[in-house]
Amino acid sequence: MEPEILLSLSEEYVDLRDLVREVVKNEVIPLRLELDEKEEYPWRVFEKFKEAGLFASMYDEEWGGLGMGMMANVIMAEEVAYGCLGVETALLASKLGALPIEVGGTKEQKEKWLPLLASGDKISAFALTEPGAGSDVPALRTSAVKKGDRYVLNGTKQWISGGGQAHFYTVFAMTNKDRGPRGISCFIVEKDTPGFSFGKKEEKLGIRCSETRQLIFEDCEIPEENLIGMSENKGFLHALKTLNLSRPVVASSAVGTAQGAFDTAIQYAREREQFGVKISSFQAIQHMLADMAMKIEAGRLLTYKAARLAEAGHKDAAKFSAMAKCFTADSAMAVATDAVQILGGYGYVREYPAEKYFRDAKILQIYEGTSQIQRNEIAAGLIKEAASGSR
Ligand SMILES: Cc1cc2nc3c(=O)[nH]c(=O)nc-3n(C[C@H](O)[C@H](O)[C@H](O)COP(=O)(O)OP(=O)(O)OC[C@H]3O[C@@H](n4cnc5c(N)ncnc54)[C@H](O)[C@@H]3O)c2cc1C
Repeated sequence: MEPEILLSLSEEYVDLRDLVREVVKNEVIPLRLELDEKEEYPWRVFEKFKEAGLFASMYDEEWGGLGMGMMANVIMAEEVAYGCLGVETALLASKLGALPIEVGGTKEQKEKWLPLLASGDKISAFALTEPGAGSDVPALRTSAVKKGDRYVLNGTKQWISGGGQAHFYTVFAMTNKDRGPRGISCFIVEKDTPGFSFGKKEEKLGIRCSETRQLIFEDCEIPEENLIGMSENKGFLHALKTLNLSRPVVASSAVGTAQGAFDTAIQYAREREQFGVKISSFQAIQHMLADMAMKIEAGRLLTYKAARLAEAGHKDAAKFSAMAKCFTADSAMAVATDAVQILGGYGYVREYPAEKYFRDAKILQIYEGTSQIQRNEIAAGLIKEAASGSR
């Protein structure tokens, strides 16, 4: 059976998948090693994505997009990550920056900011994490104090994808620290605002073309119209809604990473000879390939389920988003590790992409909530369900 039948992908999505696959084959795969080695932000690739209308496919028609819904992001994430998880992270980090506006912004805010992203003219970024607040989001200390018709921001954001390159940032800050997570608000901050600067470019293990930096706010004044939803203390809610929608997309990028590593491994296994036979004839290699393929297929199905529940606003969306993100991230790391093993010495060097998939895959278990945090959330959801007797 064709995978699109199993996954119930409509013709529109199959066409999008084929288009992205073609663009990735022609524009991402030939450049990925160079971008990685130079740690070059993928503007060159974005130009091609723009021409192919890929930015537009991520946004609603109302805001200048193609109105293809969340599945478009899921499909695109898998295909782009198949080519390069660094490029995928750079691309989807911009959508992540847009989500707080989509889930919590006023009509005026959506009209002002989202068309800039749908056209591919501007890039945004999402700034939640801080040096002292990673998994523990409510511990964030960046503050926003109202001063007339402006807010004054002070604090530091850590590990922000697109930091330094993005044109505007959705930044979470405390407007009422006595209320804990209920005192967090979210603001849009433009790149060249006085009092807003960047830390050094982080030198990373993988996804090296996706720039990551600190954001530093020192008495940075922004207009009150940049408070998302024009309502204080709703930021934590915006962040949770954002993550429920973005985690299936990260999961899909993990499936793409794993598929890329798998394809590299199976192709190599069919060519490499030892002891006078192809290594694909050894049962030890065959079983590794079978396990890898099972993880990928199961992960893809779970991801599609999570994405459809998230898109429908289903009550179980958070639990399935966490399940999909955790399962596929752990699977991608396992598959990429086995791919390196199948390539032997060639798995350890840059001549083949297995080495890069392996380096890139690790981030999937860390960003947008570590695998430990996903398990905490899944278990909390399950225990709550059991307590309420719902099934
Ligand atoms: C390359 C990169 C890009 C990123 N991009 C962005 C971005 O664009 N925007 C953004 O806001 N953030 C971004 N992040 C931040 C990322 O989401 C955090 O790094 C992540 O949430 C983990 O936080 P931490 O690094 O502070 O680790 P910590 O929270 O300090 O965790 C350290 C370890 O302790 C474990 N741990 C912590 N708490 C618990 C617990 N309660 N139970 C069990 N184990 C626990 C963790 O799982 C982990 O293994 C990025 C990070 C990286 C590395």
